[in-house]
Amino acid sequence: MVFKHDVLIVGAGLAGLRAATEVAGKADVALLSKVYPTRSHSGAAQGGIAAALENEEPDSWEWHMYDTVKGGDYLTDQNAAQILAGDAIRAVYELEHMGVPFNRTPEGKIAQRCFGGHTRNFGEAPVKRICYAADRSGRVIMDTLYFEAVKKGIKIYPEFHVLDLVLRDGRVAGLVAYELATGEVHFFQARAILLATGGFGKVFKVTSNAFASTGDGPALVYRRGLPLEDMEFVQFHPTGIRGLGVLITEAARGEGGILRNSEGERFMERYAPTIKDLAPRDMVSRAIYTEIAQGRGIDGQDCVHLDLTHLGEKKLAERLSDISSFVKIYLGIDPAKEPIPVHPTCHYMMGGIPVSTEGMVEDETGSPVPGLYAAGECSCISLHGANRLGCNSLLDLVVFGRRAGKQILENLDRLPWIDPPEAPQRDWADRIRRLLENSKGERPVVIRRELQQVMMDCCSVFREQKGLEKAIQTIAELEQRASSISIDNRGGRFNTDLMDGLELLNMLPLAQAIAASALNRTESRGAHSREDYPQRDDEHWLAHSLIRKTDQGVLIGAKPVTITRFQPKPRTY
Ligand SMILES: Cc1cc2nc3c(=O)[nH]c(=O)nc-3n(C[C@H](O)[C@H](O)[C@H](O)COP(=O)(O)OP(=O)(O)OC[C@H]3O[C@@H](n4cnc5c(N)ncnc54)[C@H](O)[C@@H]3O)c2cc1C
Repeated sequence: MVFKHDVLIVGAGLAGLRAATEVAGKADVALLSKVYPTRSHSGAAQGGIAAALENEEPDSWEWHMYDTVKGGDYLTDQNAAQILAGDAIRAVYELEHMGVPFNRTPEGKIAQRCFGGHTRNFGEAPVKRICYAADRSGRVIMDTLYFEAVKKGIKIYPEFHVLDLVLRDGRVAGLVAYELATGEVHFFQARAILLATGGFGKVFKVTSNAFASTGDGPALVYRRGLPLEDMEFVQFHPTGIRGLGVLITEAARGEGGILRNSEGERFMERYAPTIKDLAPRDMVSRAIYTEIAQGRGIDGQDCVHLDLTHLGEKKLAERLSDISSFVKIYLGIDPAKEPIPVHPTCHYMMGGIPVSTEGMVEDETGSPVPGLYAAGECSCISLHGANRLGCNSLLDLVVFGRRAGKQILENLDRLPWIDPPEAPQRDWADRIRRLLENSKGERPVVIRRELQQVMMDCCSVFREQKGLEKAIQTIAELEQRASSISIDNRGGRFNTDLMDGLELLNMLPLAQAIAASALNRTESRGAHSREDYPQRDDEHWLAHSLIRKTDQGVLIGAKPVTITRFQPKPRTY
């Protein structure tokens, strides 16, 4: 079938929902989501959303901006950080007025707590800046925004998997999507498309991310020869449940939790004497792996302890109830009585589709692609630099989701309907039919596991040349093998096997872009830590990287960092 809407938004996480609610009522907007909208990964966010409300103690948006820039190891574009921190207060009150049930202070104000890298007075000590609803902040914001979308009558296509962008002469004509319930392939014509497809932590074996976080949006863009930005910067969150990667929110340390090694030592005192366990995630993850490498892992294993026993049952029940229950269910441990074994887990992609602060997708020259927008984790505004601070993502989604929505409305009159080349959905229907008929190839899951393992071994917290070269070589071989995968389930209804295969074809090029960008950057900055180049090198590398596919192979270029107020300094905490 062919559908037609002025504006299509791909992704119903918080970025997609916030953009859609901005456009609703002013243009014909529809949302497509491959999972049921409220199951988007945003709903799994635990810790909260950052804003210098000053409800619990003095704070300022300028301190927040500074922390964002320093947390990003000075790769953050400072104009974007200023927008984020400056608009945060309005954005959180807007959510409150929509009905988000934040925790409260005794006076009835929105309660706030500490989080990694958020400090008062330019790095002096941790500050209470995070607004939260226990440890299910994403869930309550998701549900509130989803109902807002329903209230505004936004057309939603649930469980529609977008397969391709349709461009003509570099302009957006529409997209092709697969309907999970029926197995049909449709063409959606539109004047503007916003990609809000989330992260791609699933390229790593150990991750906190949802199954759907496979990076379809960035992969579609990359396949079209458009660049991806800062792909080498992958955040590992320090506290994933050992062996599983399920997240234990940083709020556990914000509420007073302590990391300890096998000797019971609070080792973060050595790595970050001022803010200790509340140092940014890249530093804490490196510290944990260093402790393990030096023989101070718990019982000789690859984990350390997160100790919450001194917080008491009441606080755990009130503020950290979800993670307490995860630990009981998955490990059989009561966190009020025993410490939790944790190790780093792949959590967030700082890199993605390059966009302006208005959400316009940019090509390798920095010119906007007419009609194409992106927001949320799939995009790279260059806001989080080389390392995102906790609770700045939910804020990014609502601040920059809204801005992208506004920009789409402003541009819409100048965006004509573009006729697609011959029925693009037919080509895709044929491709899927051929894929389902192929019985000779390997199953996608086999290739996916090998991909996730090599990324974990060679591209995670610490990297070096040999390992990265091995990853690039292995991924190239896996891409070759994946060109003739075979799908077990040949059916047309809810064929999740087929989805796995299509997602694998998106994950492989993204993994390749991560490894190639990481090999290219011969310095250590933020989450990108090269054992063979351990220093930050501002002289050569204070720049964003842009990677794209060309007929001659992969090309990596650079783009300057916007520095307005804070000159790069050595990063100590
Ligand atoms: C466990 C966990 C806890 C976190 N806690 C916090 C926190 O406390 N504070 C904070 O600031 N950040 C937190 N983060 C980070 C933050 O939650 C994410 O960065 C953010 O939610 C991403 O939102 P999004 O709107 O970009 O995409 P998502 O919420 O990931 O949604 C992606 C959407 O895209 C759709 N989609 C994807 N591909 C396709 C396709 N091919 N076709 C159609 N639809 C598609 C999906 O169906 C989905 O609707 C956490 C992340 C995790 C994983």
